[in-house]
Amino acid sequence: PPTQAAAVRDAFLSFFRDRHGHRLVPSASVRPRGDPSLLFVNAGMNQFKPIFLGTVDPRSEMAGFRRVANSQKCVRAGGRHSDLEDVGRDLSHHTFFEMLGNWAFGGEYFKEEACSMAWELLTQVYGIPEDRLWVSYFGGDPKAGLGPDLESRDIWLNLGVPASRVLSFGPEENFWEMGDTGPCGPCTEIHYDLAGGAGAPQLVELWNLVFMQHNREADGSLQPLPQRHVDTGMGLERLVAVLQGRLSTYDTDLFSPLLDAIHQGCGAPPYSGRVGAADEGRIDTAYRVVADHIRTLSVCIADGVFPGMSGAPLVLRRILRRAVRFSTEVLQAPPGFLGSLVPVVVETLGDAYPELRRSSAQIASLVSEDEAAFLASLQRGRRVIERTLKRLGPSDVFPAEVAWSLSLSGNLGLPLDLVELMLEEKGVQLDTAGLERLAQEEAQHRALQAEPVQEQGLRLNVHALGELQRRGVPPTDDSPKYSYSL
Ligand code: ATP
Ligand code: MG
Ligand code: MG
Ligand code: MG
Repeated sequence: PPTQAAAVRDAFLSFFRDRHGHRLVPSASVRPRGDPSLLFVNAGMNQFKPIFLGTVDPRSEMAGFRRVANSQKCVRAGGRHSDLEDVGRDLSHHTFFEMLGNWAFGGEYFKEEACSMAWELLTQVYGIPEDRLWVSYFGGDPKAGLGPDLESRDIWLNLGVPASRVLSFGPEENFWEMGDTGPCGPCTEIHYDLAGGAGAPQLVELWNLVFMQHNREADGSLQPLPQRHVDTGMGLERLVAVLQGRLSTYDTDLFSPLLDAIHQGCGAPPYSGRVGAADEGRIDTAYRVVADHIRTLSVCIADGVFPGMSGAPLVLRRILRRAVRFSTEVLQAPPGFLGSLVPVVVETLGDAYPELRRSSAQIASLVSEDEAAFLASLQRGRRVIERTLKRLGPSDVFPAEVAWSLSLSGNLGLPLDLVELMLEEKGVQLDTAGLERLAQEEAQHRALQAEPVQEQGLRLNVHALGELQRRGVPPTDDSPKYSYSL
């Protein structure tokens, strides 16, 4: 079975093309086209939204799509699906990841085929032992008058999954909805047990298979869709970790060249995979943040999203600044370091996404420019703090207006938590009440100015993790979220 990331990706695509007659389509740009409800493309299905909505132009190529598969560049930072806060702290969530997906439009095939294909691929092509796989299905939603998806349950049982590893969950986890209205339906997910019989199961979600059967009307009612569709997504990084026998997506060939380059460029101790409280000094967290963020920055810039002042560009700027802080403050990276990682990203992803190769130089120089600007802001911020401290009495709090003017919402573009950290280092308290007042004023001001942006977020991905966690051991702030106990 394939284990190298490139071979794993290829095996997915050729499985669906050669064995099951799917047409391969390229990844869409991470910049959503004509969809203001999204900051970034966050799932493989985004580009097929018109098919689900029934608004596809009959003259377009998409109108002919029946069986399709691809590997989609996804970014989950900001907006409904943001995983930004988890990155660095856990071993399975990235701001940029690749989603492998297959689709069957208009009832081309449905649950039975979708589940069998997924099972065949995982167990026969990738050689994953069946007894490491768990599945979940929709257990029904009495309030909405929906019964359990016993069809999916029986499909798994018929495929040989023992009943003890076929679990049902409610609408939160196993019912997918595009938004307040629109196509929706139950989903079934495949999870992998990292523990493999040694102690309690440690599950990580691998693959989500959504069956679109209903339309949510404006009055909240569900109507049967004229057409049914299959929409699936599996994270390449997690799959590769499983196939390489790793507990962490960072311990795979998608990340190790980056972690090596960071080690060489910064002179920090080598990456050792510690998480939570065990990661003293947050060295390994910093490695993960920097490796994750430089991939996201590279992919976004290649697709024309540049760090900037609002919307997706602002999210990207925050990502860049987070990477700069972790690299310079924790890993002692020299100035200009982030840009030097871009060729390593291009080396690992450029064959799959050639646009990265084409804009490699531009990405590196943009990253370096923004890094330099941020480092300069930091220096100016430190000077402003010094000057302000000089005129404060020993028991004074740090004035909110000054902190605000240093922050992203103010002039210098320093994230507020960073300002707080800098003050903490100086042993001075911030006037947090004053700051809250300023933030509220600004929010009101913005609300008056901004056009209402409707977040119809594509909830492709309703998540079994939460419910599974509720049944098992909930993760603490510090615990790795790559997996959860059952
Ligand atoms: P999780 O519950 O782990 O957050 P999810 O339910 O949000 O995952 P889906 O929205 O169902 O994920 O997306 C389909 C697949 O994409 C997941 O099964 C997982 O393999 C992968 N995936 C989702 N989010 C991430 C991420 N932030 N980084 C890497 N892979 C991800
Ligand atoms: Mg989930
Ligand atoms: Mg999911
Ligand atoms: Mg999630």
